[in-house]
Amino acid sequence: MNNLLFSDSFINGEFYVTEQRFSVDDPATQESIAYVSDIDKAGVEQAIDCAEQAFVHLKASSATARSETLRRWYDLVIEHKQLLAELMTKEQGKPIAEALGEVEYGAGFIKWYSEQAKRSYGDTIPATDTAHRLSSIKQPIGVVAGITPWNFPVAMVTRKVAPAYAAGCSFVLKPSEHTPLCALALAYLADQAGFVKGAFNVLLSENAKMVGELLTSSDKVRKFTFTGSTEVGKQLLMQCAATIKRTSMELGGNAPFIIFDNADLDAAVAGLMAAKFRNAGQTCVAANRIFVQRSVFETVLDKFTDKVAGLKVADGFAEATDIGPLIYPQAKDKVQALLKDAVAKGASLIGDNKDLGGSFQAPLILTDVTPEMDIYHQEVFAPIASMITFDDEAEVLAMANNVPYGLAAYFYSDNIKQVYRVAEALEYGMVGINEGLISNPVAPFGGVKQSGLGREGGHQGLDEYLEEKYLCIKV
Ligand code: ADP
Repeated sequence: MNNLLFSDSFINGEFYVTEQRFSVDDPATQESIAYVSDIDKAGVEQAIDCAEQAFVHLKASSATARSETLRRWYDLVIEHKQLLAELMTKEQGKPIAEALGEVEYGAGFIKWYSEQAKRSYGDTIPATDTAHRLSSIKQPIGVVAGITPWNFPVAMVTRKVAPAYAAGCSFVLKPSEHTPLCALALAYLADQAGFVKGAFNVLLSENAKMVGELLTSSDKVRKFTFTGSTEVGKQLLMQCAATIKRTSMELGGNAPFIIFDNADLDAAVAGLMAAKFRNAGQTCVAANRIFVQRSVFETVLDKFTDKVAGLKVADGFAEATDIGPLIYPQAKDKVQALLKDAVAKGASLIGDNKDLGGSFQAPLILTDVTPEMDIYHQEVFAPIASMITFDDEAEVLAMANNVPYGLAAYFYSDNIKQVYRVAEALEYGMVGINEGLISNPVAPFGGVKQSGLGREGGHQGLDEYLEEKYLCIKV
């Protein structure tokens, strides 16, 4: 029994029980882990009202007090990291070592923003005459509502809630219906750490549309933050327009991973393994289109094929698992449809595409992928590696940029001039250069084009929850 396992929404520091319940299933077995309350309309409204009350207290609190509370939350998360990781592997499926890594990474945002809470500096502005003094101050926006996805059940929550609390904002969160248990555990620990009651509420629901509509239409909610698909993000952004909310949107990607012929090919393949297969490929920054310069293609493919053949697909709790199950069995249907389309249009498949049962999908490599194939344009969210050859830099840059997304891009090159040229030319919010894992609480994470608005992490992540007020004083 995991003593951080709760099954009801958390409002104002208390559990909110409803009769209507839904099942949270283990993706490895499809067995139910918990039957959790499905929030009703009154519960959503109560959570918003409590967050509004909490904001009254929060905006009167000192940055130092909020910093210290966040630090206690961080300490509690680290103290319970094994339990949180087990909960994550249970509800999300990722290998336990990855889950532990995510808890530490997610806790890193709490620690970082416990430090940044003290640094929401304003400006003093030299006036244009001697009769005025000009300055600006930063103040918390108010009540924040957020909706998060299932692929990072801890980190997607902490990277929003920690900067919001640091700024002095209260929060109403609807986590994914597939992974609500980690979010609940985090809220419980935040309460234990001394969060102002009502400052972090978690609503469990299978009816995302209903909750989303209430959160986005409420006048009391001043900021809305979302991580998920571009399609749902666009819809929520439109809903937020009616009340002109501040918004942050972390949406889909279609990351290019480019290997130039002068690169360290072993390092490139190692980086590719991480960028492609972490979380079974279910990340918005996963390498989606792998471009390899023609002269080194066969060498890269040989090294990559060897490594992929060594990946172990199994339950996330089994020893040495590299790839756990996909989030639910239907995710495999999408993968199979993409593979079928690609092969019909001329791609070659490397690896055994046998059905491993349940939600388990074998890692596979596709070569000769072209823009005519659906897999070239869609976020694959599975352990399928699409490979494309190219001849020169201009050609690969044109292909890399010619998509509506712009989240993460990666390239490997040992030529310093090329490093600068390519880094500056890629139309992406984040670029990994000779590195396949780039997320870090101290750095700004976010996309351009249809990959989103705003940044999470870094000092920029705090500004997403602050309004700047200009003061003009006549002396
Ligand atoms: P994913 O493929 O990662 O599940 P989604 O965008 O479908 O991406 O889901 C991300 C989050 O958005 C989840 O918490 C989900 O419940 C929520 N969601 C999905 N559809 C809607 C909607 N119409 N309104 C509000 N939230 C939604």
